[in-house]
Amino acid sequence: MNVKTAPPGRVDLDKTRESLEKLGLVHAGEQLATLLTEAVKNGQPVHRFLDELLELELSRREERRIRTSLRLSGLPPGLTLGSFDFAFQPSVEKSRVDTLATCGWIREHETVLIQGPPGVGKTHLAVGLGVKAIENAFSVAFFQLEDLLHVMKQTAALSPKTLRRKKYLNVALLVIDEVGYQELSREEATLLFRLVSYRYGRGSILITTNKPITAWPEILAGDEVMATALLDRLLHRCHVLNIKGRSYRLRDLEGRLK
Ligand code: ADP
Ligand code: MG
Repeated sequence: MNVKTAPPGRVDLDKTRESLEKLGLVHAGEQLATLLTEAVKNGQPVHRFLDELLELELSRREERRIRTSLRLSGLPPGLTLGSFDFAFQPSVEKSRVDTLATCGWIREHETVLIQGPPGVGKTHLAVGLGVKAIENAFSVAFFQLEDLLHVMKQTAALSPKTLRRKKYLNVALLVIDEVGYQELSREEATLLFRLVSYRYGRGSILITTNKPITAWPEILAGDEVMATALLDRLLHRCHVLNIKGRSYRLRDLEGRLK
């Protein structure tokens, strides 16, 4: 059966559009007239027209879900894996990043640690992977460590039940950016340790850091025992990207200084 007849009159379409809107199919309602006119013009089979109408509704909803999730995640805008220049940073294997981008590690509650000096793209890669996670329907929260510690201190007195609803505990992927730039107090180190312990086996963590693992006791208030216990959980089933290279920020400057 083809859509052969002329498009129905305005009144008929209005009724269909209203029904679609009542069913919550707002985008399908909006595009009904346009798609139907096209279908009639091209003599499209009815099932194809219906397919297109529903496909449009689904894709618009998906776009909206991604937009909302990106906003709620706190991921800084504009950084994607697509805009990462792998040729500039050969120590980052594109194939490994592509594998991580499929999000299998998040499904398995594994961790990612991105290490390297300033400006080499740690935050860019972390955010790019966060965006991929959202596209793959995982919940994501992004924090710089300093902000996360601030939020954790503010919420420390809440009951465990209320606390478990906080996004830094219950999202599928928690991105903690800039670990290592500041040394933590004992209270802060304990909060971070509890966070990593709670999420261990429950949800993924992605950490970016400018410090090698050996320097972690210093970061964690000089507490070797706590650092060992934290790293034990963090590094069990961990994907490490060790970036050794030039700062992307200083690339122009390097050229000028030569
Ligand atoms: P880091 O977190 O390691 O200090 P960033 O990820 O903040 O570095 O990178 C610094 C700036 O350079 C950002 O604007 C980032 O988008 C850009 N950048 C870094 N590496 C690359 C790269 N390989 N390709 C494209 N842009 C990059
Ligand atoms: Mg950074």
